[in-house]
Amino acid sequence: MVTGLEIKNVKTGQVSTLNLDGVFIAVGVKPNSSGFSKVVDIDEDGNIIVLDTSLRTKTAGIFAAGDIRQGSPRQVSSAVGDGAVAALSAYKYLKE
Ligand SMILES: Cc1cc2nc3c(=O)[nH]c(=O)nc-3n(C[C@H](O)[C@H](O)[C@H](O)COP(=O)(O)OP(=O)(O)OC[C@H]3O[C@@H](n4cnc5c(N)ncnc54)[C@H](O)[C@@H]3O)c2cc1C
Repeated sequence: MVTGLEIKNVKTGQVSTLNLDGVFIAVGVKPNSSGFSKVVDIDEDGNIIVLDTSLRTKTAGIFAAGDIRQGSPRQVSSAVGDGAVAALSAYKYLKE
């Protein structure tokens, strides 16, 4: 059981204790998009740029869905919705 955190001030070296019942560790969010940089545009944060609500990218036939696309609210519900939109867009693209 977590009972607290021992915190060290790296500037002063002073150690103090913060009493807590739990801890959430923020690991950060870094999109794994670099492998696609030759076929899609990527913004400064690593998100794939989509051109419109069909989720198409600058390359015809490539769509970006979920957390990796620029502007994503980064929630399960939006990622699922994106998946449906991108799949329908891909279907329409192939049909045309
Ligand atoms: C700690 C944490 C807590 C969260 N809590 C919530 C919550 O409470 N509610 C909520 O709605 N959302 C929450 N989210 C956000 C939610 O998990 C994401 O919005 C959602 O999972 C995004 O789905 P996705 O399919 O876009 O991406 P992901 O779920 O990240 O799936 C991407 C997949 O692609 C794979 N992959 C990566 N690179 C490659 C590659 N080069 N080739 C092949 N595969 C690759 C990965 O391994 C992964 O399986 C949380 C996220 C985190 C990290």
